[in-house]
Amino acid sequence: MRLSELKPGQTGVITKILGHGAFRKRVMEMGFVKGREVRVILNAPLQDPVKYALMDYEVSLRRAEAELVEVQLLEEWVNSKIHVDAHTEKHEDHEFSNIRKDKIINIALIGNPNCGKTSIFNKVSGAREHVGNYAGVTVGAKEGIIKYKGYLLKIVDLPGTYSLSAYSPEELYVMRYLREETPDIIVNVVVASNLERNLYLTTELIDMNRSMVIDLNMYDELQKSGVELDYKLLGKMIGVPIVPTIASSGIGLDKLLDTVIEVYEMKSNDTRHIHVLMRSEIEDCVKVLKDEFKKDRAISHHFSPRFLAIKFLERDPEIEEMLRVYPDYDKWVNIRKTLNEKIKKNLNEDITSAIAAEKYGFIQGALAETMNGGVVKEEKSTKIIDTFVTNKLFGFPIFFAIMWFMFWATFRIGSYPMEWIESLVGWISGLIGENMADGPLKDLILDGIIGGVGGVIVFLPNILILYTFISFMEDSGYMARVAFIMDKVMHRMGLHGKSFIPLVMGFGCNVPAIMSTRIIESKSSRLITILINPFISCSARIPIYVLLVGCFFPHYGAWVFLGLYMLGILIAIMTARLMRRFWLKEDETPFVMELPPYRMPTFKATMRNMWSKAEQYLRKMGGLILVASIIIWALSYFPRYESRDIPDAFRIETIAEIPEERINALGDEKVDEVVLKEYQQSHSYLGHIGKFIEPIVRPMELGWKSTVSLLAGAAAKEVVVSTLGVLYIGEDDADLLSQRLSAPSVITGKAPFSPPSALAFMVFVLLYFPCIATLTAIARETGSWRYSLFSAIYNTTLAWIFAYLTFRIALLF
Ligand code: GDP
Ligand code: MG
Repeated sequence: MRLSELKPGQTGVITKILGHGAFRKRVMEMGFVKGREVRVILNAPLQDPVKYALMDYEVSLRRAEAELVEVQLLEEWVNSKIHVDAHTEKHEDHEFSNIRKDKIINIALIGNPNCGKTSIFNKVSGAREHVGNYAGVTVGAKEGIIKYKGYLLKIVDLPGTYSLSAYSPEELYVMRYLREETPDIIVNVVVASNLERNLYLTTELIDMNRSMVIDLNMYDELQKSGVELDYKLLGKMIGVPIVPTIASSGIGLDKLLDTVIEVYEMKSNDTRHIHVLMRSEIEDCVKVLKDEFKKDRAISHHFSPRFLAIKFLERDPEIEEMLRVYPDYDKWVNIRKTLNEKIKKNLNEDITSAIAAEKYGFIQGALAETMNGGVVKEEKSTKIIDTFVTNKLFGFPIFFAIMWFMFWATFRIGSYPMEWIESLVGWISGLIGENMADGPLKDLILDGIIGGVGGVIVFLPNILILYTFISFMEDSGYMARVAFIMDKVMHRMGLHGKSFIPLVMGFGCNVPAIMSTRIIESKSSRLITILINPFISCSARIPIYVLLVGCFFPHYGAWVFLGLYMLGILIAIMTARLMRRFWLKEDETPFVMELPPYRMPTFKATMRNMWSKAEQYLRKMGGLILVASIIIWALSYFPRYESRDIPDAFRIETIAEIPEERINALGDEKVDEVVLKEYQQSHSYLGHIGKFIEPIVRPMELGWKSTVSLLAGAAAKEVVVSTLGVLYIGEDDADLLSQRLSAPSVITGKAPFSPPSALAFMVFVLLYFPCIATLTAIARETGSWRYSLFSAIYNTTLAWIFAYLTFRIALLF
């Protein structure tokens, strides 16, 4: 019976803890272990939690948890003496009757056929072997009981199986056994010389989240083949202790049993629950189902929600049968249908083979890091590409060549369509300028909307090209290799190779990049990766660079770009190292980097990807950036002034700044117009705001207009450009923003930016506070706004320092 069925006042003895993983651990840590007596203090029907007396203290359990604890009434238990199977009782009870219940460990041997399970079983159980066939199936299991270091070990030798599904009688048998019997410890026997195939079953057992020890059997064969395997590291990575054995001669079996006891007592340092991560398309689907299954605790009594979700996605008949009894079954089937369709569209293969490929990718990654002189078998094409791409000599140059090509294509190839869009925007504003009656509406459309949005939209092609490269690298499987070769470098920063993927993705947009840090299991590494991500120059900053570089550094464009990106990366590295040194100490837990097989992304998928990015960009233009542009425009347009509102002092001061010959050239009427325009802007609402904060950036000779645009960049970095577009109104409506920025001011004869101040401005934009979307992503992923606040302050401080240094250094040239 279950603990939840006990009535108040009744006392039971715990005979078994069902469930798995964290739950099981929690319940056991609270003191609910086999053999202990529990008395119910308070158990009102339908009331949560239930109060129990356990040994000398009181604990409360949720009803759902109490359901997973199997108990026997005390009086019954006393009569039954010892709980072993009826047929084994007769000749052993005299020997085992004095063993405490919590010292009985049920062990299941699981592994591929011919991996040595029976050899282990025979050697361990020795003369005491007891053979018993489980009724009802043609395949059987042998059970043996031995006494070992004060424990009673009940070992079951299960039939060999390659995976956990319901397609062969053996597999079905093993699956049912795991479901019904809930062994305390699974000993997963794997053949050392054929790890790749053997570990497949292991990945499924990991999904199941049961207490487990891996027996690396036939270790003699591995040694003979000259292959080196760092099995300790491998065990740490996958969170399961590994013990090498040679079952045929009994070597290592004591250590195996010791480890089993250690894991059972939860004293093993290597035991840790990990996820065999698959590509995000599949993980997303798994998560949807997993969350469904989590709603009702009863569903995952026997198998973990993750395991159920994966098997349900694969339409495993046994799991199907198990889940059919729940009222929500039809809903789940419907969910699966839509998920399956999505996966088919995204992956171009059926779910079962996709999952298998991902699992092998996990194994490849784990073995690539721990095995030397590998017998790792790969698909031929994958192998050929990998010899180059992950090669010590070629790996880095290939990666840098690809990165260089990516940026070259982004700016060079992108500049042609950019020019077309630019001239289209110019043509439209020319048309409106000529045909619309003067007035606030015309000003709004020309200066507010076209000036703002038009200035940013021209960069659409650049951004699409960049995204195409990044998603190609991700989808093809190349990114995983990059993470792999970068591992050593990243370790110097106190990070892991996996942190490199979010950094590369950050070139596109920091928001998905920060979300992708979920693949990093180590908490501190993940936090650092999140916080350094904003230093990676995202594509929204490209418009600013292109604009200013085009104006002020047309001949050194590539170098300025390279310099900016490098500066961002250097600061990211510096920040990571500082954080490791003074704040977050290194976490040594190693983990697996998956190496999925290469896939050629289909043309269709690439186009769809590109279109969705374009759509996103256009939506941002039509929404956030349009609104921001209009607000900025309105703030700079109001309050309105007439010529007579201008105080004489201002007029005299302004005119005094204009050189004599310019006044003559312009004529009195034009000068009046210029003075009014200047007064209007600098005394608008925005002008007041800008003037208030201008002193901060004055050392870099940036005016109040650029200050305001930096501030507006909090909404989105593109808004920096659109704000400049709104504020620097040209002489001619069709003037391009780049012309407006480099044109000398009518008043001072100086352009708004000088090359040094433009450079400082770009450095500032590169480093200063992240946009709202990124700050939100940081808060969401770290679970605290404190980190967003830190990021905003720290980054802006650095931005100021580096912008100032840049400005001073640039002045020297
Ligand atoms: P099962 O199918 O998993 O039960 O595997 P068996 O226990 O029947 O073993 C299969 C074969 O592998 C037998 O011929 C064993 O003698 C052999 N074997 C088992 N363990 C080892 C080992 O550690 N080293 C070597 N070289 N052979 C082993
Ligand atoms: Mg056998």
